[in-house]
Amino acid sequence: MDQNQHLFERAQQVIPGGVNSPVRAFRAVGGSPKFMVLGVGPRVWDANGQEYIDYVCSWGPLLHGHAHPLIVKAVCEAAQLGMSFGAPTEGETQLAELIAHLMPHLEQIRLTSSGTEATMSAIRLARGFTGRTKIVKFDGCYHGHGDALLVKAGAGALTFGQPDSGGVPAELARHTLVLPYNDEQALRQLFAQCGDQIAAVIIEPIAGNMNMVLPEPGYLSLLRQVTQEYGTLLIFDEVMTGFRVALGGAQSLYAIQPDLTTLGKVVGGGMPLAVLGGRREVMQYWAPVGPVYQAGTLSGNPVAVQAGLVNLMLAQEPMVYEKLQEYASQMIQGLQDIARETGIAFTGCWVGGMFGIHFQENLPKNLEQVKQANLAHFNEFFQGMLQGGVYLAPSAYEAGFVSTVHGANELDQTLTVARRVIQSLGSK
Ligand code: PMP
Repeated sequence: MDQNQHLFERAQQVIPGGVNSPVRAFRAVGGSPKFMVLGVGPRVWDANGQEYIDYVCSWGPLLHGHAHPLIVKAVCEAAQLGMSFGAPTEGETQLAELIAHLMPHLEQIRLTSSGTEATMSAIRLARGFTGRTKIVKFDGCYHGHGDALLVKAGAGALTFGQPDSGGVPAELARHTLVLPYNDEQALRQLFAQCGDQIAAVIIEPIAGNMNMVLPEPGYLSLLRQVTQEYGTLLIFDEVMTGFRVALGGAQSLYAIQPDLTTLGKVVGGGMPLAVLGGRREVMQYWAPVGPVYQAGTLSGNPVAVQAGLVNLMLAQEPMVYEKLQEYASQMIQGLQDIARETGIAFTGCWVGGMFGIHFQENLPKNLEQVKQANLAHFNEFFQGMLQGGVYLAPSAYEAGFVSTVHGANELDQTLTVARRVIQSLGSK
């Protein structure tokens, strides 16, 4: 009896689609999702006892792999002191101080429980601060499931072929303007038309929700320059890239100073925790000091905060990002070599511990180009890897992640399985 299948059927009776987040359902790639029972370091085990090398890493948070002993210890110790108070705790200030130190453009910080809350709040704050209504996002970027941002969103929304969600009033979506990623002319044109009505531009500075797409050289600086010129706030959504591509996030790599930044995933070490931070002048618009409202019963949860503090402490150890980058580069280059030998169109990219695999000749620069990849090859590759014990994101529109505890064994095993799978694609 396949326990995964059994658990999935049972779950579907009481949970819509059997999952609490759509991409987990494996609809894009087919088959039943794996129900996980254990994670240790770079590996996970499903309900059948099958072992996998994990390149999902909880969709990014697990920078140091599953159940890192120091994080588990911090969580247990914090829980024993009280799970939640709904009153301030010193840990929240410590975490805010640490983040402000590591990412100096975040002068003040507010903690939330999910990335969605952080981005949704960022939009409200930008509108409250500027007194303007319109916002701009990019086709294929995902910023959580706040109504205003579920317009031409990537990731799960894209996997299901319906970028615009039901239930979002047209009157609301109308205020969200969408631009193609990496298109300088479209950006200039839009601002020339209505730049003085735009409250904010929100962008994934390295996109990770339409597979992985890098910004073209100079594109983010242009964005900074144009938004500044029109008094529009620039929001970097670094929920995925923060502490993942570099200790200072993508903003440190590209030397850009956004007005607001959202963080999530790594910042909570696997616990529900996210961040909205930015310029003091803007952050002072938050209640209780300012007129814009934002709140949360579990915001700054003391257990999550301790997990975050330890995750970020470990992130500061020497060579962490070099090590992540070394693993990701060897893996992607290894896959590229195999694909080249086999005559399969394939390319990939990586920054720090984040990577993208594309079944096409050249790296895509925007969503339209991402969609030109060979989806059948991706799906067969995904299934073959899964059978061989390598767990990749179950969608061609997601980035992948490595942790600091992925090592030589994982790399060898991954490339051995990949060779077999890619060769079988080539023989068809
Ligand atoms: N922004 C980005 C860039 C994300 O990748 C995600 C989640 N994948 C979110 C926001 C939403 O975060 P959460 O799932 O924690 O609500």
